Amino acid sequence: MFAPEFSYHRASSIAEAGRLLAEHPGAKVLAGGHSLIPILKLRLAAPAVVIDIGRIPEMKGIAAGNGTVTIGALTTHAELASSEIVRANARALAEAAAQIGDPAVRNRGTIGGNVAHADPASDLPQALVALGATFRLTSPEGARSVAAEDFFEGLMTTSLREDELLTSIELPAAGPGRGSAYAKLAHPASRYAVIGAAASVTVAGGKCTAASVVLGGLTSRPTRAPSVEASLVGQTPSEAVIAAAAKNAAGDLGDDLMGDIYASEEYRKAVAHVWVRRALAAAAARCAG
Ligand SMILES: Cc1cc2nc3c(=O)[nH]c(=O)nc-3n(C[C@H](O)[C@H](O)[C@H](O)COP(=O)(O)OP(=O)(O)OC[C@H]3O[C@@H](n4cnc5c(N)ncnc54)[C@H](O)[C@@H]3O)c2cc1C
Repeated sequence: MFAPEFSYHRASSIAEAGRLLAEHPGAKVLAGGHSLIPILKLRLAAPAVVIDIGRIPEMKGIAAGNGTVTIGALTTHAELASSEIVRANARALAEAAAQIGDPAVRNRGTIGGNVAHADPASDLPQALVALGATFRLTSPEGARSVAAEDFFEGLMTTSLREDELLTSIELPAAGPGRGSAYAKLAHPASRYAVIGAAASVTVAGGKCTAASVVLGGLTSRPTRAPSVEASLVGQTPSEAVIAAAAKNAAGDLGDDLMGDIYASEEYRKAVAHVWVRRALAAAAARCAG
C-alpha cells in the first residue's frame, strides 16, 4: 500500500527541526524510516507533514569524556554494534544493536527512532534502562533530560512531547569491575525480541555490589527485575547463584505480559529465566577485566 499524501520538509539543524515542529503541530519526524514508513504505508498514521531529520550533523556520532558516553540520536544500529567506545563501555547496548533485524535494518535504523517508537519487541530500550541511560530531549522552549527508566511509559508510548526531538543519549562510562550483556530469543522471521534480557553487574572483592536486570519483548515497556537483582547483591556471582537468581524473573514480570501466535504469555513467562541467566552470566564474566 502507498503512504497517504504528506508534505515533506528536510531540517538541516536541531533548531530548524524544532521550528518546523512548532509550525506544524501533529507533524512526524523521519529518521531511518524503518518504523515510520511501514506505519504510513499501513495507514496507521496519516500526518499532514513529515520532517526529515536524517541529515542533521549535530545528531550523529559517539563520543566519550568526563565519565560519560554520548550517542547522537541518529547513530545507526550498525554504528552502535561496531563502535569501540560502545563495546568498551556499554557492551549490552552493542550486543542488542548487533542482533536487530537484518543488515538493511541495522544500516538505516537509528537509536533515536528505535526508542521514540517504543515498540515493546525492540531490543535497545531494555539495554538502555539496564545501563542507566539518560535521554536528552529538546524543543523550541528548551532542553530537558529524562532517565531511560521514566521515558518508556507503555505500549509505543513515551514521555516525548509532540514538539520535542530526542537529540542524544548519555550513558555512564564503564567503571571498574562492571560488565554488561544482552541475551535474546529472537522471532525467527522478523528478528524482533520475543524475550530480550539486559544485565549490568558490578563485582568488587569477588562479591556482586550492584546489579541491574531489565526484560523486554514480553511486557508493554522495559521491565526491571528487582527480585533477581536483590538475590545477586552481596553474593559471589557463581553459575549456581546466577541460575537461582534468574529463576525469580517470572515473579518480577507482574501481569503486564504479552503473547501472540508465536509465543504465548505462559511460554514467555516460563522461559524468561533462561535469557536472564545467559545475560547475567556473560555480564558477570566481563566484570573481572
Ligand atoms: C524488517 C524489520 C525488522 C526489524 N527488527 C528489529 C529488531 O529485531 N529489533 C529492534 O529493536 N528493532 C527492529 N526493527 C525496527 C528498527 O530498529 C527501526 O529502525 C527502529 O525501530 C526505528 O528507527 P528509525 O530510525 O528507522 O525511525 P523512524 O522509522 O524514522 O521513526 C520511528 C518513530 O520515531 C520517531 N522518531 C524518530 N527519531 C526521532 C527523534 N530523534 N526524536 C523524536 N522522535 C523520533 C518518528 O517520528 C517515528 O514516530 C525492525 C524493522 C524492520 C523494518
